[in-house]
Amino acid sequence: MRHRVYVNRTLNLKKIRYIGLDMDHTLIRYNSEVFENLSFELLKTKLIQKGYPEEIKDFKFNFHFAIRGLVIDKKRGNLLKLNRHSAIRASYHGLSPIDFKEQNKIYKSTYIDLGDPNFEAIDTAFSISHAVMFSQIVELKKQKPHLQIPDFAIVADDVLAALDEAHRDGSIKNAVKKDLPRYILKEREIVLGLEKFKKHGKKIFIVTNSDYHYLKTLFDYAINPFLNNHATWQELFDFVITYAQKPRFFYDQLPLLRVDPKTGLMSNYDEPLKPGIYQGGCAHIITRDLNLHPDEILYIGDHIYGDILRLKKDCAWRTAMVIEELSHEIETNRKVKPITCEIEQLMQQKEPLENELTELLTRKYEEDSAVDDEKIERIQRQIGDIDSNIAQLIKNQQAAYNPQWGQLMRAGNEESYFAYQVERYACIYMAKLSDLFSLSPRTYFRAPRRPHAHENV
Ligand SMILES: [Mg+2]
Repeated sequence: MRHRVYVNRTLNLKKIRYIGLDMDHTLIRYNSEVFENLSFELLKTKLIQKGYPEEIKDFKFNFHFAIRGLVIDKKRGNLLKLNRHSAIRASYHGLSPIDFKEQNKIYKSTYIDLGDPNFEAIDTAFSISHAVMFSQIVELKKQKPHLQIPDFAIVADDVLAALDEAHRDGSIKNAVKKDLPRYILKEREIVLGLEKFKKHGKKIFIVTNSDYHYLKTLFDYAINPFLNNHATWQELFDFVITYAQKPRFFYDQLPLLRVDPKTGLMSNYDEPLKPGIYQGGCAHIITRDLNLHPDEILYIGDHIYGDILRLKKDCAWRTAMVIEELSHEIETNRKVKPITCEIEQLMQQKEPLENELTELLTRKYEEDSAVDDEKIERIQRQIGDIDSNIAQLIKNQQAAYNPQWGQLMRAGNEESYFAYQVERYACIYMAKLSDLFSLSPRTYFRAPRRPHAHENV
């Protein structure tokens, strides 16, 4: 597959002096489906311990039931897909789709206020298990009302709390550590790319919310074997910040601790930042101690909220986002091209019919003249036939992306809410980190000119 980096805002890599990397799902790639399945299984155990019914044990994980960018309506037990204006474009209650009429009845306005705490965004690749578990419990409550299952909003909070706990108490990390080849995808290209960037004088650092021991296990496994010009990953990275509380890391003032790489023990640290391993801290320390202008730093992450949005809003560092689903999305764009062309042809066939109908109806109302009603009906039928053809084609086209939700980056004719956030906050984006690091560190990314509606004429 070709290496591709997509540009929202012009970025000259030559001007970038420091490149910061998130670890999980950015520098370290996971086998997401297997990893999410693990989270789902651990969630089951934790929820049953919390008093949820034993029936949960029989739940089967379906990785494709949810996609990134969906929003959970905690109060009503629904999953929603929104477009760039945060209008609902598709919805599910439990495991069943909500039809358009029903959706209009439930939601007086199609526009969702995402500031409302009843809505929760599924904005990372590792919250798929969360959305899937929530929907399956909603379904169970619907099917077996006699079971003691709390209100949907409480279910949503319980699932999130159980998932946080699985991340925090080590249950997920311990399972990953025990079987690294199962969960982690090693990639030589990334390591070679990092070494190439170092040759050009770029400094590379890590800011991760994970702890030092977990990071060390993953880096020893996925980085060290591929190093040519460095003995270990400790030499490759100029500094490593663990347990960063992103997104707080980007806007708060948090103290920095030094980590002893041999023992993992921490000590207070009041000196200016220098090469080494740290815990905590904040973005301000980096720009201040290294005397950097914010736009001399490029930070790369996979989490729109934790890595990208607050960073862009609060720090003005340059941003790059890794969207692993993009490979599938682009491949599918290519696959469905014949259907897309067919839809366009039908739209073109429809246009003259619609014009003719408008003309006939206009004459009928304005001139009060005798109009051929049969002709009007015939044209209306033809348009109806074309519309149902188009509807079926769109269904087939969207199912190729995801059977329930269609395309990740689009909602109907518009951008999806997720795509809108990517466009707004990520200067550049790509499917995987090696797409960027395989390029020259002197690359000039030029943003395409975006036409206004009135410029499309
Ligand atoms: Mg990450």
